[in-house]
Amino acid sequence: MHKCYGTMKLIFLSVLLTSFCQLSNSYRCETPEDWVETASHIRLPGSENSIPNADFANIRKGVKWPKGIVPYKFHASLTLQDIAEVRGAFEEYESKTCIKFKPWNEGDLDFVSIEVNQSVCGVAHVCKQGGYQFAQFGDPSERCRNKATMVHELGHTICLGHEQQRSDRDNYLSFPNCDKVPRKNPSGDYWASGIYDYSSQLHYDCNWCGGGWPKAEEVTKCGFEAESGLSPLDVDKINELYDCQGCHRHRWRPAKSLTREEMGNMYNFGYKLKDGTPLYPCRAPLRWEVSPGRYDIVTKSCHIGGWERTFVITENVEVLTIPGGLNKGCSAYKLTDRADVTRENGIVSSLSFRYTDARGYVTYGTLKNESGVEDNALGKVWLWDKNQNFQNYAAELQHGTVTGFQENYKVLTCSFDQSCAIKKLMEGQTM
Ligand SMILES: [Zn+2]
Repeated sequence: MHKCYGTMKLIFLSVLLTSFCQLSNSYRCETPEDWVETASHIRLPGSENSIPNADFANIRKGVKWPKGIVPYKFHASLTLQDIAEVRGAFEEYESKTCIKFKPWNEGDLDFVSIEVNQSVCGVAHVCKQGGYQFAQFGDPSERCRNKATMVHELGHTICLGHEQQRSDRDNYLSFPNCDKVPRKNPSGDYWASGIYDYSSQLHYDCNWCGGGWPKAEEVTKCGFEAESGLSPLDVDKINELYDCQGCHRHRWRPAKSLTREEMGNMYNFGYKLKDGTPLYPCRAPLRWEVSPGRYDIVTKSCHIGGWERTFVITENVEVLTIPGGLNKGCSAYKLTDRADVTRENGIVSSLSFRYTDARGYVTYGTLKNESGVEDNALGKVWLWDKNQNFQNYAAELQHGTVTGFQENYKVLTCSFDQSCAIKKLMEGQTM
């Protein structure tokens, strides 16, 4: 649904949306009831897989898929091309998170049926329902029947709600001159907190009444216009929700509510300032980006270098934590020299709401401070599209009030040792 209306003329919208309203129940309907400010409460089954009480961003308080494994069936309505698109969506999840899509087997009671429904762009149940549920895409005339729509629908399958329906969305979006606006998800049914993600695949494209207009003036793109797949914040959210391990086990935690245990999981990778201050990574929204910087423990602020100055951000600051330590199971988090970093092992830490598929990575290096003395520094390097690598760009580092570019830098990476994993599996150990 997020894809098909952004480019359409508004005059057609209300007609179409009204017709969809009559087709589906509210909770599995992509827009109709979503467009009016009425809360509909949904009964949810209880289970040991219920989502724990935590401050996740816009996640339905429903039932998760055990171990992140989603059994699926391909419905007979799918063409071979549809199946290729769906497999592309599976790959998007499986390459970036620990979610696994597994063909249905005898004995799988709960499963998602992947179906074509030509009367909608896309629609799916939110969370595990018990027994049969569906994720549908359809209308070919509106360019809905593709991987991007299925990535969105499968997000619902694993419990993600629409970002533009977060209960706190009015801080980030406005809906000027809209007769109908998407309702907010009832806070009783959804958690909403953390950095607002304009680029989420669960955010409709913006600058129309369905997706809202960003209040941050410099933010120009939302949803699939900002990201061609899961956004870095989607990925982090899913990995946290499903407690993914290996190289998915780092967690960006809100500075405001950092626990003692989480503080114990912060790492400075051996980097300190000359005065002994450890350099811990943080990230925060800044202009049209979410950008990495240096965490100040005392003021709980994130010091981000950019546009030739230092910004001290105190709102929506998140701190990097690595539960279990730098080395756990067969995964190792470390700093890697610029020349040896790949897009595969670099930890994506930040993103843009303006440039499609921009990626920011935590970097360490040295920088001359205000007095001209070389000292350790923390910052980021950006890759601006899918084909770039770290050889194209210098890192932008920050020290005190100084920011500057550095050619020699190290990037935060994680590597996973497959042979170690196979050995442990054979020994019957879990990772
Ligand atoms: Zn949706």
